[in-house]
Amino acid sequence: MLFNFKLSTPAEGLVDITREVTESVKESGVLEGICIVYCPHTTAAITINENADPDVQTDFIHGIDKVFPDLSIFKHAEGNSDAHLKSSAVGASETIIISGGKLLLGTWQDIYFCEFDGPRTRKFFVKVIGD
Ligand code: ZN
Repeated sequence: MLFNFKLSTPAEGLVDITREVTESVKESGVLEGICIVYCPHTTAAITINENADPDVQTDFIHGIDKVFPDLSIFKHAEGNSDAHLKSSAVGASETIIISGGKLLLGTWQDIYFCEFDGPRTRKFFVKVIGD
């Protein structure tokens, strides 16, 4: 079963999409299987990370900005090569195991849509596959 969502993103940052993914799994009725969360964009990504301290999300962006700075040698006319690099490094999707009808996430894990070149209206897909 495929679900699709739209979201409004900040200039750069992580948006928690765990609720949407959890609701998709519930609506699918799948008890055992996998769930794929996929981002169809080249300057955004999907990741799983800590949900307890919001500073982790801020630090994530600060850290990735240091690893992938906007360099003057970049030729891409759109001027967002750093965002393209971040997108590929973090990845377009995450796969989460479904067990007992629930996402098998750790206590401190949530699922995040990562925006590297916003603000924009974005979309993501959730594919739920039963055993
Ligand atoms: Zn571009």
